[in-house]
Amino acid sequence: MGYLRRLIGAATDFLIPPKCLLCSASMEIGAPHAICIPCTDAFERFEPPWCPRCGTPFHSLTTLTHSPAHVCADCLESGHHYDMARAIGAYEDSLREAVHLFKFQGFTKLAREFAPHLAKLAAEEFGTGENARNVLVTHVPIDPARWRTRGFDQAMLLALMTAECLGVPHMDILERAKATRSQTGLSARERRRNMRGVFRVRAKVVRQQIEAATCILVDDVVTTGSTASACARELKKAGAEAVHLLTICRS
Ligand SMILES: [Zn+2]
Ligand SMILES: [Zn+2]
Repeated sequence: MGYLRRLIGAATDFLIPPKCLLCSASMEIGAPHAICIPCTDAFERFEPPWCPRCGTPFHSLTTLTHSPAHVCADCLESGHHYDMARAIGAYEDSLREAVHLFKFQGFTKLAREFAPHLAKLAAEEFGTGENARNVLVTHVPIDPARWRTRGFDQAMLLALMTAECLGVPHMDILERAKATRSQTGLSARERRRNMRGVFRVRAKVVRQQIEAATCILVDDVVTTGSTASACARELKKAGAEAVHLLTICRS
């Protein structure tokens, strides 16, 4: 179904005005967007002040007044292996709807929609903009079983396009060494144990390219961060100097 819709969508874009995937408003023929500008502007984005590590907005400013480098309780407890994490916004409302269309209904062209926002966030927050050196983009690899049913790797698509926007290389570094059982209902410690040994660096990867690099690790949605943390651990073991997690949503 997703494939057919995509195919028909691509063919008709040149003949009749495409409609915004979220609000169905007509856009100009050949419009480069799949979502109209008012809908994009309406995404509920995270705004600072936020936790300097995970980017979750602070509800109270009191702690910040006393200590600007204050990290949230979650970061203090979790001990994730990535250095910083940033998401465009919460997994709610229209942003959630857009992620669903992208991930579950096969509207892969939405990757192009999200990528400039992800690149902007990375440049501003991780300092990986134009003049940054030794930066690369990679992604959390999809479960092979899920790849077979979905037909594409949403995190890889996002990573490829974000790298293009940033003007830095994308590297397909990690693979899953074993299947994981569902993380639902597991405690933080159980999740960490569940993720142990799940990821490894692909045999073909030239390790010198990772050494001392700043890696931007892309995924679509982050929930507890344990999956991304397991990836970051492997990237650091392979020599990465810093690993920053970049996602569309944080749920
Ligand atoms: Zn719209
Ligand atoms: Zn935090």
